[in-house]
Amino acid sequence: MADSAESAQVRLDYIRARMEKARRRFGPPSQAVELVAVSKTFSADAVEPFLAAGQRVFGENRVQEAKEKWPGLREKYPDLTLHLIGPLQSNKAREAVAVFDVIETVDRDKIAGALAAEMARAQRNLPCFVQVNIGGEEQKAGIGADEAVDFVRRCRTVHALNIVGLMCIPPEGQPPGPYFAHLAALARAAGVEQLSMGMSADFETAIAMGATHIRVGSALFGQR
Ligand SMILES: *Cc1c(COP(=O)(O)O)cnc(C)c1O
Repeated sequence: MADSAESAQVRLDYIRARMEKARRRFGPPSQAVELVAVSKTFSADAVEPFLAAGQRVFGENRVQEAKEKWPGLREKYPDLTLHLIGPLQSNKAREAVAVFDVIETVDRDKIAGALAAEMARAQRNLPCFVQVNIGGEEQKAGIGADEAVDFVRRCRTVHALNIVGLMCIPPEGQPPGPYFAHLAALARAAGVEQLSMGMSADFETAIAMGATHIRVGSALFGQR
């Protein structure tokens, strides 16, 4: 194996072992947890060893960057799944629906409507997560926690989106556990099953709180 391929395999194995340990430590429910490898800022050449090592689920935070990076990789690995994990503008909805397989950042009616229209046009009914601004932070994307349940309902009934779960990024510099627990409670109240929460620094805590998807960037690809 080339060095880069070997180190991709080692890093994936290490993260997967930690995921499995966290999943077992906190006991039932023991649903599988999906690793979303966050490849933002890394080139296709840097990503390819992870595909070669068997990773198939990736996250990108910018439509433009994904559009440049992923079509070539997808030709080689048609079974990969690409998640949009960054904020979306409605004028990018068409490109987002073309490039991504899962949208994790639905957070307002305007985006929900634009995505629904483009999905209908493209006949691609992508699974979506509603992003919740779980810390109520001024500068952060996401629907407010107190509006989340009603917004999920509107996404389903008004926009006919396939909402599968909730996603959050908790405030920096605070213990994330209570925020993850809050998101899990909101998901139960909203009647959605999946929870995208936890990044390099806190994914084990997220798994303890019921994450079904963790989004790990720097622990796999290195510092950005
Ligand atoms: C960059 C990013 C991540 C990954 O963060 P790391 O700390 O590098 O693991 C996860 N989620 C979102 C929304 C991101 O933008």
